[in-house]
Amino acid sequence: MERQDEAIKQIIASTVPASRSATLPQVCPEVARRLPDAAYIHIPFCRTRCSYCDFAVTVGTEALMGKYVDYLLREIAFTPAAHYPLQTIYLGGGTPSLLTAEQLERILGALAARFGIAPDAEISLEANPGTFDLVKLKAFQRAGVNRLSLGVQAFQPHLLKLCGRSHDLRDVFDAIEQIQRAGFANFNLDLIFGLPHQSPEDWEHSLTQALAAQPAHISLYDLILEEQTPFGRRYRSGQAPLPDEEQTVQMYLRTRERLIAAGYEHYEISNFARPGRQCRHNQVYWHNRPYYGIGNGATGYVWGARVERPRRMHDYFLWVEAGQFTIAEAMGSDEELSDTLLLGLRLLAGVELSALQQRFGSAAVENLCAVLQPAFAAGWLLYDEGRLRLSVPDGLLLSNEVFTLLV
Ligand code: SF4
Repeated sequence: MERQDEAIKQIIASTVPASRSATLPQVCPEVARRLPDAAYIHIPFCRTRCSYCDFAVTVGTEALMGKYVDYLLREIAFTPAAHYPLQTIYLGGGTPSLLTAEQLERILGALAARFGIAPDAEISLEANPGTFDLVKLKAFQRAGVNRLSLGVQAFQPHLLKLCGRSHDLRDVFDAIEQIQRAGFANFNLDLIFGLPHQSPEDWEHSLTQALAAQPAHISLYDLILEEQTPFGRRYRSGQAPLPDEEQTVQMYLRTRERLIAAGYEHYEISNFARPGRQCRHNQVYWHNRPYYGIGNGATGYVWGARVERPRRMHDYFLWVEAGQFTIAEAMGSDEELSDTLLLGLRLLAGVELSALQQRFGSAAVENLCAVLQPAFAAGWLLYDEGRLRLSVPDGLLLSNEVFTLLV
């Protein structure tokens, strides 16, 4: 493993500016597996802070966006390039759709100059209703964005208000219309279930409205009460006005039923896609492949180590001014194996056992399977056709119980 790390470092150290047409260097598959060809860019600005959100975001600071983009460019410039053109870029947040087209062009231009961007790269941008119009969407498209992820969360005005969303229902419908008019064939819609005061009928209605919008992809979020948020302070899990466990299970199962009937593939615990429209960037995470994480609070996975950026904006600026790409110690092989399994099991296709054995050795994989024995015994985990996967629906519903065994 050490020799591989050395080889990777040498490849990365010889920093030749990449280009959009950069070709893959000839390296052995094991080394190639550890070179990032994906980048997550964090855009932390939001109009309001939603009542359930504990992400690294900042509110009322849009005037700082220009400066922040300058610092992103500085970080990109000192991030070691692997000379692998990026295959996927994900601008998440925060609300990346608050960026101006010029700011977005600068970021993508810097990524292209530093790493190269493959001609058929997937470039996703998260957007919130009320923060863009058709002119802006067209400009984003011209800059290279080919996948849009719209944060709708709910189709009921009372729930949008309760969540502290910065948009109303009219903004949602307007946003969907503009996305369709701009011709974004690849667009995702985010919904949250398990919200306070959300009835099963509300959820059915949200699903109906989401399907009517004909997105290529739908992501579900099961509300988590984070301590430091208004929801975390106000509500207790499983207690009214939150839906009880049985209700949230039914919401999840109904979602599966309706989206599959409508032609979506349920390919990850919380994600559904039309054929061929699975999110390529998120699959990098689920396959535990490396990626750059750029911007405040962003985590990357480079050279076998999770690398973090300061979460507070001011600290991030200081960190960029120091101009040092920080590398944590590479994780051990056991940790990498359990991460690979934990992330891979999120996919309904599961994980190919022989690939794990080849990469980590049979003994380590056998040990881990022994740890997972209670999940096999409970019927939450299955082994068939050479793959380990969660059972449907029990394993999907109780995935956290399975994952707990791995950490
Ligand atoms: S829009 Fe998204 S990132 Fe911003 S506060 Fe709301 S949930 Fe958090």
